[in-house]
Amino acid sequence: MIPPPMLPACWTNLSNAPTAPLNAIMPVYCAYWNAFLMAAKRTDKVTLRDSKMSPNTGQNAVQLNAVSKSYQQGKIAVKALHQVSLTIPPGTFTAVMGASGSGKSTLLHLIGGLTTPSSGEVILFGQPIHDLDDNRLTRFRREQVGLIFQAFNLLPTMSALENVCLPLLIQGKPLREARIQAAELLERVGLSSRASHRPDELSGGQQQRVAVARALINAAPLLLADEPTGNLDSKSGEEVLSLIASLVREQGRTVMMVTHDAKAAAHADQIIQLSDGQIIPDPSRDGRN
Ligand code: ADP
Ligand code: MG
Repeated sequence: MIPPPMLPACWTNLSNAPTAPLNAIMPVYCAYWNAFLMAAKRTDKVTLRDSKMSPNTGQNAVQLNAVSKSYQQGKIAVKALHQVSLTIPPGTFTAVMGASGSGKSTLLHLIGGLTTPSSGEVILFGQPIHDLDDNRLTRFRREQVGLIFQAFNLLPTMSALENVCLPLLIQGKPLREARIQAAELLERVGLSSRASHRPDELSGGQQQRVAVARALINAAPLLLADEPTGNLDSKSGEEVLSLIASLVREQGRTVMMVTHDAKAAAHADQIIQLSDGQIIPDPSRDGRN
């Protein structure tokens, strides 16, 4: 039996809404994965893990050295980030703030390996990722980074449980094991009773909690959230923020969250302010970033 093909980047990156045809084939895709794994009997033969990719836990979670990023728009180069350097210790919660267009999403996308820098170094857990080839970068991202977006990006034809399962199926885990872990995570985010509901049967806050569970299932040590409460009312937003903050405190995950909201940023241990693609120095931090 031939291994299933990798999903196109528009699903695995989760930065774009998946296309309708992709949603339609997803149940078949998952069933194929499961059949493939059953046929392989020993699942460790088909694992996608690369032992060289293990994080070095003694390192900073994130280190950026003089990172710049420009986008080409026709003949004009738009400078989104300019010579940004920062370090984020593991197990901390960092908020990234700044006006619209200041480069917050670009910063998160560079750290999540969704885009590559024009110059400079991006190092996650001691592993430089700025010069990895596409395959290694995709693998690294799947194992080390969980992504949460403002728009939730759940697959509409699948239940909450199936949505949470998918990152594990893509890593080659059997469906039965994935379902057990997904059920545990849905319980963790307070949604056990909604496991079989489709996204359109859930409120915005519930959908975002499903997205948080999905971001957690690959046990990624780094969670990146781009305005995770931007589409939520203040009560649901507060619930999602408390959930994210508790993951840092209880599980030692490292979280970076973009937000416009000073109240949301108050959950964080530190705040990085961006302006015109550069970090505004914070005098209270003794120049550490
Ligand atoms: P923020 O998230 O703070 O609103 P972004 O990182 O999205 O800012 O964008 C920073 C700058 O880069 C903006 O001027 C924006 O227009 C530009 N930009 C972002 N993404 C692209 C892209 N894919 N192509 C061209 N320009 C882009
Ligand atoms: Mg943005």
